[in-house]
Amino acid sequence: MGTSTCLVMNGERLAEVPGMCGVVEGGITAGLLGYEAGQSGVGDVFAWVVDRLLPAAYRDAAAARGLDPHDHLSALARQQAPGDHGLVALDWLSGNRSVLVDHELSGAIVGLTLDTRPEDIYRALVEATAFGARTIVETFDAAGVPVRELTVAGGLVRNPFVMQVYADVLRRPLHVVESDQAPAVGSAIHAAVAAGCHADVPAAAAAMGRARRDGFLPDSGSSDRYDELYDHYTTLHDRFGRRSPMMHQLRKPVGHRRPERVGAVAALRSELARLHAELPRHGLVSWTSGNVSARVPGEELMVIKASGVPFDELTPETMVVCDLAGNVLEGDFAASSDAATHGYVYRHRLDVGGVAHTHSPYATAFAARAEPIPCVLTAMADEFGGEIPVGPFARIGDDEIGRGIVDLMAAHRSPAMLMQNHGVFTVGGTARDAVKAAVMCEDVARTVHLARALGEPVPLTRKDIDALFDRYHTVYGQR
Ligand SMILES: [Zn+2]
Repeated sequence: MGTSTCLVMNGERLAEVPGMCGVVEGGITAGLLGYEAGQSGVGDVFAWVVDRLLPAAYRDAAAARGLDPHDHLSALARQQAPGDHGLVALDWLSGNRSVLVDHELSGAIVGLTLDTRPEDIYRALVEATAFGARTIVETFDAAGVPVRELTVAGGLVRNPFVMQVYADVLRRPLHVVESDQAPAVGSAIHAAVAAGCHADVPAAAAAMGRARRDGFLPDSGSSDRYDELYDHYTTLHDRFGRRSPMMHQLRKPVGHRRPERVGAVAALRSELARLHAELPRHGLVSWTSGNVSARVPGEELMVIKASGVPFDELTPETMVVCDLAGNVLEGDFAASSDAATHGYVYRHRLDVGGVAHTHSPYATAFAARAEPIPCVLTAMADEFGGEIPVGPFARIGDDEIGRGIVDLMAAHRSPAMLMQNHGVFTVGGTARDAVKAAVMCEDVARTVHLARALGEPVPLTRKDIDALFDRYHTVYGQR
């Protein structure tokens, strides 16, 4: 615990813990799974109050008492009971590492009045970081990796006020490493095992390390009051961290600062309006279903069709600019309901510059039966390099479809993919490539369907498919 906080833990079983930055077998000690989570701003957040907000009168008072400004603020802050300041804060002044993994989130303080004092803000932010730690601990617990005890180390341990807030908020005793060079001691422990001085890390730790058990014990009255504040924290956490794009919008005023981005976005809006017209023209979509997006080169942004606008009313203005989580940053419309899926693909495949999605009837008929479209035409070998694969059934709205697409892309050359019971997703270096793949996918699906009606189509050999694919992608066309 210092300028930021690392939360590391050994676990016996592998579990997927949402928002964890890493789990590595033997990552901390051999034979156990090392889990790592983190809070990107902790001591840095307290320092922000001292460096940016503290009035001169407070500095003078601290100096007169011979105290560091942090100790002075802590002494003032600890005089009140939990909740007295009437504030609840979000500790994301450096973004959020765990459990939201979103570096573009920012801080918030709710409840400010003309009576609010620097020590109130200081205390609210200390509490907010403790609530952030509690969110992580509860996420581990909920994922089936129970946090059995908490041992603390680092510079913040020297501040008893901060530690007591953590013990109370977390409702657990804090054991304190009795060295102010805990990471160095930890390295020495591992080195002693490597050098053969001790049999294993637990034996070396028992001999070389020391922790003060129950260094800070929770006070149940304070913990009860903190439970109420933690509810408010969780409400803010989910509203600003999961549901509202407001913090992203505030951090990224798209298009107002950088002319080259304005130009790129405007060009993509026009291009996408044109490309969307290809979907009904080729019979790939009905009513408002189907969408195309393009990555804004060099930015963590994409342009995508607005939700629910009929194809013959699509103009550059009905395209919206989103971040890669699918939050609208620019535009007067809601984004397509598939925006999060497109964003997932862009986040995980840097080679993808365009994504298209349709429910085109022949291809979707294969998807309805969870059947890949077999590679029985030279045009398929050219364009898709094999069968057009099918991914699992996935519900719209979270990352499931995106994950399915990325998994299929890892195992197949085809830029077109079917998602079971749903439809067609295609990718390309550009949005135009993705739309072309969607058109070709429907074309071959129709031909294979007709062939089936006449008998069993003859499959192409792997060797012929490879030769056709290579020729098409190296020799054919205007290069
Ligand atoms: Zn769909």
